[in-house]
Amino acid sequence: MKYDYLIVGSGLFGATFAYKAKKAGKRCLVIDKRPQLGGNVYCENIEGINVHKYGAHIFHTNNKKVWDFVNSIVEFNRYTNCPVANYKGKLYNLPFNMNTFYQMWGVKTPAEAVAKIEEQKAEAVAALNGREPQNLEEQALTLVGKDIFEKLIKGYTEKQWGRSCTELPAFIIKRLPVRLIFDNNYFNDKYQGIPEGGYNKLIDGLLEGIETKTSVDFFKEYKDNWREIADKLVYTGAVDEYFDFKLGKLDWRTVSFQTRVEDTPNFQGNAVVNYTEREVPYTRVIEHKHFEMFGQAVYDCPKTVVSEEYSTEYKDGMEPYYPVNNDKNNALAEAYRQLAEKEKDVIFGGRLGTYKYYDMAPVIEIVLNMDI
Ligand SMILES: Cc1cc2nc3c(=O)[nH]c(=O)nc-3n(C[C@H](O)[C@H](O)[C@H](O)COP(=O)(O)OP(=O)(O)OC[C@H]3O[C@@H](n4cnc5c(N)ncnc54)[C@H](O)[C@@H]3O)c2cc1C
Repeated sequence: MKYDYLIVGSGLFGATFAYKAKKAGKRCLVIDKRPQLGGNVYCENIEGINVHKYGAHIFHTNNKKVWDFVNSIVEFNRYTNCPVANYKGKLYNLPFNMNTFYQMWGVKTPAEAVAKIEEQKAEAVAALNGREPQNLEEQALTLVGKDIFEKLIKGYTEKQWGRSCTELPAFIIKRLPVRLIFDNNYFNDKYQGIPEGGYNKLIDGLLEGIETKTSVDFFKEYKDNWREIADKLVYTGAVDEYFDFKLGKLDWRTVSFQTRVEDTPNFQGNAVVNYTEREVPYTRVIEHKHFEMFGQAVYDCPKTVVSEEYSTEYKDGMEPYYPVNNDKNNALAEAYRQLAEKEKDVIFGGRLGTYKYYDMAPVIEIVLNMDI
């Protein structure tokens, strides 16, 4: 039996592609090397809670077409991301807004907050003595001043990159927006939320009626013979792996998680708490139930699941999460993309297949705009 498409990877790119292809009357087979479908949005149910196994995922977009599309598969809830930062036991709201400035300095009006920030920025600019900022630390100090940098940016950034802020290039931080209103909503997008019942519902809805196989590695089972079973290949695995790393290996950054069940209904009172001091080894603690349970529902579920997130240096065999956008990797990725363009009947897509970081909504938008 011949398929129109063999789709490698059941993440949001592969699953949305399969959905559209099916609607267009095409036959698809979707394979994934993991034991489950969904790619990085897959959730594992622990104690009745959807646990984001491959990292916390919050859907947000300004694109009504994408929002309507995902809501046509499963309705999204009202989750609004309002992370909190913990610095040496004191809590600050994020993103930087009037609540943060009140907590930091006791200022109550936008004018007082601006005066405080400008005073600290001026100190940093004066310290540079007319030079341009040479590193991330100097850059950040000129953008927001000493208090915000030291309490909310420095340690977190150093843990993320595994390097001191004075060793990181200035260009990593171009802007550090401050909000002069009392608004803890992290995203500026018009729409955000989590699928009611979890991301697996979204994936199941997209893949309904489509043939799927899990625990199947394309390179072991189909690389040499896929043309015998399908006319076209949609490949969302790593682009360098497809070409047998012949130009070299692309670098990745990764994150590791330590997940545990806590015997309390409410551990930290928020889905996301960032730990911004360097001495605490993890960057964030995620309490998964708060993505989907609100009000009394938090207490109706007697336990809770929390994950500590650690920025980890990538080694072979780990999950490739974030592309490393330095000159070496950008050039190598471009060389692979050129090879990919010449590959007949193969569509390379998604974050691994293009070596580009995409949020979920842009991945869906790309597929919705494709001719299938
Ligand atoms: C830690 C983390 C947190 C994130 N948080 C957010 C967020 O809050 N909001 C947001 O909008 N976006 C977030 N994202 C981005 C989001 O994960 C991506 O947009 C989305 O995963 C892209 O889907 P994809 O299909 O390209 O990739 P994936 O979901 O990674 O799917 C690729 C699939 O291909 C499979 N595969 C690879 N190689 C093979 C092979 N050889 N054979 C068979 N199968 C194979 C993999 O097993 C995987 O299932 C986050 C990403 C990360 C890494």
